[in-house]
Amino acid sequence: MFKKRGAIMKENSRKRDVPMVPDFYGENVFSLKNMRNYLSETAYKSLVSTIRQGRSLDPNIADEVADAMKTWAVSKGATHFTHWFQPLTGATAEKHDSFISPDQEGGVIMKFSGEELIKGEPDASSFPSGGLRATFEARGYTAWDPTSPAFIKEGENVATLCIPTAFYSYHGEALDKKTPLLRSAAALSKQVCRLAKLFGIDVKNKRAYATLGPEQEYFLIDRRYYEARLDLIQTGRTLFGRAPAKHQQMEDHYFGAIKTRVMSFMEELDREMWKMGIPAKTRHNEVCPAQFEIAPVFEEQNLSVDHNMITMELLKKAAEKYDLVCLLHEKPFAGVNGSGKHNNWSIVGPDDKNWLSPGENPHENAKFLTMICALMKAIDTHAGILRASVASAGNDHRLGANEAPPAILSIFLGEQLTDVIEQIEKGGAKTSKKIDAIQVGVTSLPTLPRDVTDRNRTSPFAFTGNKFEFRAVGSNQSCAGANIVLNTIIADALDEICTKLEKSGKTKKDFNKALQSILQDIVKKHKRILFNGDNYTKEWHKEAEKRGLLNLKTTPEALKVMKDEKVVSLFERHKVLSKTELMSRYEIYKEQYERTTAIEASVALTMAKTMIVPAALEYQANLARAVEDVAGCGGKVTATKKLLKEVSEETEKMLENIKKLEKCLENGSSGKIISAMNELRQAVDALEGLVPDEIWPLPSYAEMLFMI
Ligand code: ADP
Ligand code: MG
Repeated sequence: MFKKRGAIMKENSRKRDVPMVPDFYGENVFSLKNMRNYLSETAYKSLVSTIRQGRSLDPNIADEVADAMKTWAVSKGATHFTHWFQPLTGATAEKHDSFISPDQEGGVIMKFSGEELIKGEPDASSFPSGGLRATFEARGYTAWDPTSPAFIKEGENVATLCIPTAFYSYHGEALDKKTPLLRSAAALSKQVCRLAKLFGIDVKNKRAYATLGPEQEYFLIDRRYYEARLDLIQTGRTLFGRAPAKHQQMEDHYFGAIKTRVMSFMEELDREMWKMGIPAKTRHNEVCPAQFEIAPVFEEQNLSVDHNMITMELLKKAAEKYDLVCLLHEKPFAGVNGSGKHNNWSIVGPDDKNWLSPGENPHENAKFLTMICALMKAIDTHAGILRASVASAGNDHRLGANEAPPAILSIFLGEQLTDVIEQIEKGGAKTSKKIDAIQVGVTSLPTLPRDVTDRNRTSPFAFTGNKFEFRAVGSNQSCAGANIVLNTIIADALDEICTKLEKSGKTKKDFNKALQSILQDIVKKHKRILFNGDNYTKEWHKEAEKRGLLNLKTTPEALKVMKDEKVVSLFERHKVLSKTELMSRYEIYKEQYERTTAIEASVALTMAKTMIVPAALEYQANLARAVEDVAGCGGKVTATKKLLKEVSEETEKMLENIKKLEKCLENGSSGKIISAMNELRQAVDALEGLVPDEIWPLPSYAEMLFMI
């Protein structure tokens, strides 16, 4: 018999748990909830405090935690474990070991020790180290990050326990993206707590942390087309391809009804994400046909970065199940929208409140406005390194193109908040007599806007009500890089602000006066970074140049910033990266860029020579024969000859451009290679519009973008 709705609701309201969360949510993570069932009370409490305070694991409970983790994992079908880490390749890495260990009787038992949990030693000689490691000390070490829970990866047959870890060298130098992220989070916490203390907030045993909610864009195409395109297989993007007559002009894809196959894929993806405890929230069609987005509920930054890495993996896996391929490249198709990752970022203070949420009282306002000014100072002072943090060969196609933020960094605050900032510049509006509240001269202003409705989609760094959205991260990049820089530059700005404040007089009045003048100075000095207009326009580029803002258009230009003395000392000051670590990263990223460019050029040449030239020559021969045959029979061939001329001209151009690209690839700079590739592409794309479809060896943009 069916229960009446009212009866069910009554029953549910008695239960403490929300009844509607599917029981598979989080089933593949060794979450706190899971741990409680597998650990002694003492070990559980110790682990919880380790996690909450972001400390390292107490070695005394390591064996018990490892054993509990193994018991849980084995119960989920796991036979192996791996230290899961994020080397500088940009991907994730794992090397599996089974749990088996010989027993005394010639058999085996399933074993996992605290030592194995805490530390691993993968042979790391083939990971990029940028000269940090000589081959004789090729080992790298991995260390468990207890703030990111272990999880299970389900295979076709059995499962693997994955332990999120940091990856470092024999001498303790960071070889990954997690280590500096954790260090930068500590630097941020330190400075936010310092400021909090000045505001009279209790910081004992407390910490501050950044929150992150990355919106991930991606493309899906049918696997058959993917497999027919060497460029997609080898480089992740199409190196040739003519824009179809209809692509995104009608704006009918964005938020459109989701096609059945894609919907099945999304359901699968969401379920797999939920199983991993990744709070998948929003899914929708994006601007370009075949483009989509998935966004989670925000989480603590470090966890969210890990979750995004897992999400990228799950995207690819879920696609496979439906004979689709997920393209995470920033610009898989020329001429239409590329994919980014909107990095929604905020700060939770030691008072457990969001410090980027405009407060309802003067005290909260002061905290909020100090943070806003710190951000202005941070981004204006360190725009170059923030730009460098999102530099990659793939993202170069996107930044600065017409649908993505330009490479020029600026901040959008919206009109109301800009107005408040302008008042701060003038020395604060009216001062309030109530000195028990910290004033910053804004006590008499109306409550700050909670909901910024005039959202600006063109700004690279936009305030969106209670967080900032950094939109320049590429869809294929780890969020770690951008967040390391964000944490560090804000920490640095706060450091300077705190140092000044700490020197102010002791009374509240003195403090308020000091804060007000500090913020006023910041606004005066850094207001050039504010821009509320359309960041896509030429006028803005001109205006930005006038303001002296950086415009680092390409990766090589942006990466050079990493070598600036100012940047080196910034990272050293906050113990995020040593000079050696930073230089090794510079070398690795530079090399990655150059290799990517060379590989793309090589693939383009192969495709042109072995697929496109033969097709063009075949058509040309067919036309030549037709001209001869038709003319021989007395037919009219004037226009046919013109067509033949056009085809042969483009074919010649293509052949010449092939030679040119070959030469550049031998001894040209990346910049020269890229422009030679573009020239080759122009000839090839022109031919695609002439050569019969049945001879053309590659699936077209129309097929790839619309046939899913
Ligand atoms: P959109 O930008 O598409 O309009 P929203 O602004 O609602 O969407 O949110 C986008 C993302 O921002 C979501 O992933 C959400 O979890 C994240 N987000 C919301 N609040 C915060 C916060 N305080 N810190 C970090 N991320 C946040
Ligand atoms: Mg957004």
